[in-house]
Amino acid sequence: MTTERLYYNDSYTLHFEAAVLEVTTHAERPALVLDRTYFYPEGGGQPPDHGTLNGVRVLDVQTRPSDRAVLHILEAPLRADRVEGSIDADRRRDYMQHHSGQHILSQALEQAAQARTVSVHMSAESMTIDVDRTNLSPENWEAVEGLANRIVLEDRPVRAWFPTAEELAALNIRKLPEVNGKVRIVDTGGFDITACGGTHVGRTGEIGVIKVVKAERRGETTRLEFKCGERALRDYRTKNDVINRLTAALTVGYWELPDSVARLQDQNRTLQSELKAAREQLAAHEAAGLLSSAATHGSCRLVARAFSRSADEVRLLAQKLAAEAGVIALLGAAGEKAQLIFARSEDVALDVVPLLKKALEVIGARGGGRPNLAQGGGVPADLEQVQAAINTAVAMLA
Ligand SMILES: [Zn+2]
Repeated sequence: MTTERLYYNDSYTLHFEAAVLEVTTHAERPALVLDRTYFYPEGGGQPPDHGTLNGVRVLDVQTRPSDRAVLHILEAPLRADRVEGSIDADRRRDYMQHHSGQHILSQALEQAAQARTVSVHMSAESMTIDVDRTNLSPENWEAVEGLANRIVLEDRPVRAWFPTAEELAALNIRKLPEVNGKVRIVDTGGFDITACGGTHVGRTGEIGVIKVVKAERRGETTRLEFKCGERALRDYRTKNDVINRLTAALTVGYWELPDSVARLQDQNRTLQSELKAAREQLAAHEAAGLLSSAATHGSCRLVARAFSRSADEVRLLAQKLAAEAGVIALLGAAGEKAQLIFARSEDVALDVVPLLKKALEVIGARGGGRPNLAQGGGVPADLEQVQAAINTAVAMLA
């Protein structure tokens, strides 16, 4: 049992009647085989149509390999002798615009950039073409887009048909068919002639516009992403909105955005390094203050304190303290992810790791490090709890 594929000759009829030939399943979902259909089954890089049969949603359309019957895969079981089919018009038009757009783009890539199409991917998220060339220049892209959009603007007729063997032999076909037997040819206004089973627009003007939005190298090939028709309009709308918000925020013309952002990045780098220097100075100053009033432990000075600051700041302070001779610094940063940072000077014979581990037990955390600098934590602990943990370590020193 096979299905007459009416979309081959007419990609505009979206409502039709058909007889049910078979009620079956596909991947555990109910499925119907009809005597005739306008539903496009997934194939040739083009996703399937969506729509309804007697109001039941068609989730997927596939070709059954054994007999090439078209399986209409349904959301719910449907028992009927005849069905009324209805195809999702927006989705169909979207793929018609992009599939025809792809044929034109593939031909324009060959003519204007000597780049041959290796593969094509179409989905709801993106439409891409892989070509056998890398390092395409901005001039290449401009030439390719210019040529492709000229074919759109000329509103040329698109014809799809099954030629005779003699007719086929005489055609200058871009992509040779992989299958033996009946070959369907799509002639896009004499610009591009290729073998294809997809649904296409009747005239190139319906594509609206063809825009390459991204190109990236993938080994020896380039993958380009393109958009046609409504997708291109939505893309333009989104990007225009982003640009308008950026130009308003930066009070520059849109053409000044790249320079403006580069300037901001420059300023940011300068500010970062100035801030780092200022923090170092501040930490050194604070360390000197803490040391002048520090308790003594044998021949060492001992600073044991919890702070309500970032762990990075406390760590910097610990490093500044330990940079002086004869210092033990047992510091902590309270917060959602409290940290203990224990350090000692090079000239002090003390392993801070066991002290840290003991102190971390108090707040139920873990950590480690080297004998002269160790850190741990990551659990919530307030100032009082962190100070109590530090005090445990101080008690071990006694
Ligand atoms: Zn095609």
